[in-house]
Amino acid sequence: MGITREHCAGLDAADALASARDRFILPAGVIYLDGNSLGPLAKSVAPRLRQAVEQEWGDGLIRSWNDAGWIDAPRRVARRIAPLIGADADEVIVADSTSVNLFKLLAAALRLKPARRVILTEADNFPTDLYIMQGIADLSGAEVRYAGPEPGALMAALDGDVAVLALTHVNYKSGLIHPMRELSAAAHAAGALALWDLSHSAGSVELDVAQDGADLAAGCGYKYLNGGPGAPAYAYVAKRHQAQLRQPLSGWFGHAQPFAFARDFEPAAGMQRMLSGTPPVLALIALEAALEAFDGIDLAALRRKGRALGDLFIALVDEKLADTAVRVASPRDAVVRGSQVSLSHAQGYAVMQALIARGVIGDFRAPDLMRFGFAPLYLRYVDIFDTVDALAGVLAGGEWMRPEFSARKAAT
Ligand SMILES: *Cc1c(COP(=O)(O)O)cnc(C)c1O
Repeated sequence: MGITREHCAGLDAADALASARDRFILPAGVIYLDGNSLGPLAKSVAPRLRQAVEQEWGDGLIRSWNDAGWIDAPRRVARRIAPLIGADADEVIVADSTSVNLFKLLAAALRLKPARRVILTEADNFPTDLYIMQGIADLSGAEVRYAGPEPGALMAALDGDVAVLALTHVNYKSGLIHPMRELSAAAHAAGALALWDLSHSAGSVELDVAQDGADLAAGCGYKYLNGGPGAPAYAYVAKRHQAQLRQPLSGWFGHAQPFAFARDFEPAAGMQRMLSGTPPVLALIALEAALEAFDGIDLAALRRKGRALGDLFIALVDEKLADTAVRVASPRDAVVRGSQVSLSHAQGYAVMQALIARGVIGDFRAPDLMRFGFAPLYLRYVDIFDTVDALAGVLAGGEWMRPEFSARKAAT
């Protein structure tokens, strides 16, 4: 006897997080498995944005920097993100994009270790992380060293030249989780700093940056945090480094007294110095409202459900797709797997397009990976069942071979 849809419906009925789905607007007829790329719209966002646009901007005009608290938004939104990553509120700030925050943090890390010039990372890191490292190397004479992805290979590459070990916690393609505590400790033992990109972790995987020894971190606002397209990102700096930290994009919002209009830069105290220019207020407000979806959510339960959804997906793939060309390309052990599972298939792009045409939305990562994200806040166990059922249908009928499914779009 295989896994039945009734069994999955039973899991939903017993799911303590099931009611959180009602905090989102999810289009009818769609199973959304791409919340690790762009989270869906939370119900709290549109009314809050309307108020911000019409009242705070429309009526309040420039007075709203003070009266509506716009000026505090980067710190206020950070207070909501801090518990999701295991940081204190005054160790996080919301600003810019993940790419820009990585630039600021990596440059700051190199300044904290002036006798060292190597940024150590893995070649399979998310491309923007690598490109930002390469840009910094170009600018500063630092060197990017690639190792891994196994922890042992990374540790072996940690020598006295390494200023910072910079990794993404959950790999965007495979979903593999790096052991943050072990690797941060190894970096420290080698005299280096540890910088973690949490883009594919926060909001789906339990994080404790403080206990796990992260010195610096950054992450994305529009994936599991559901802040909307291009939502601002966040940066974390452990309190022990904040006073010495100098980031190179020293704009006026990072000044100790932005409205003194002084000639010379003087960094603000604490995380405020990570700011550069004027914050994107409307985008911050959208992210702030979206984060209400995490109110009262037990993060350990969230993680357990994420693992369970992934395990169910893999079990169903094993059961129903064993005689197809599809292979599981993510760790089978949920302990080292984020809330996502990738399947490989030589024609993965076309298969995913055919699946999307059926209303099951995942994405594709070259060369051959179909990626399925399992955001535990709004996905149901029956969605997993229906997804694998749809995938089996797409493959069995050769539906994916239709020419319209092979035409590449700009964003995959
Ligand atoms: C999504 C993601 C980013 C995105 O960076 P942007 O500057 O927002 O485009 C960066 N790093 C990782 C690991 C990501 O998953």
